[in-house]
Amino acid sequence: MGTTKVFIYRNPQLSRCPNCSSLATLHRSRARNMWEQIVRKITFLKTYRCKECGWRGFRSTITFTKKSLKAVIIYVSLILLTAWFARYFILNYALN
Ligand SMILES: [Zn+2]
Repeated sequence: MGTTKVFIYRNPQLSRCPNCSSLATLHRSRARNMWEQIVRKITFLKTYRCKECGWRGFRSTITFTKKSLKAVIIYVSLILLTAWFARYFILNYALN
């Protein structure tokens, strides 16, 4: 087994429009409201607009490989576990 690629970076500008299926017609679009700004900040989703049909919506800039999904779950569990231990340690030792 080689190195597991967890995330594959993908540029939505080069992929097909989900509405009209035109190739490479998507362009980055500015966030129009608070909700879109929040989504853009906390997720991998970005707002895009199709110059062919006018479709507008979120596209992910990162895609998970099927094979890597298990690795992602393990990583997330490890992060949560580390965070929990850090919190436990701080609460029990640092504050005394
Ligand atoms: Zn389109």
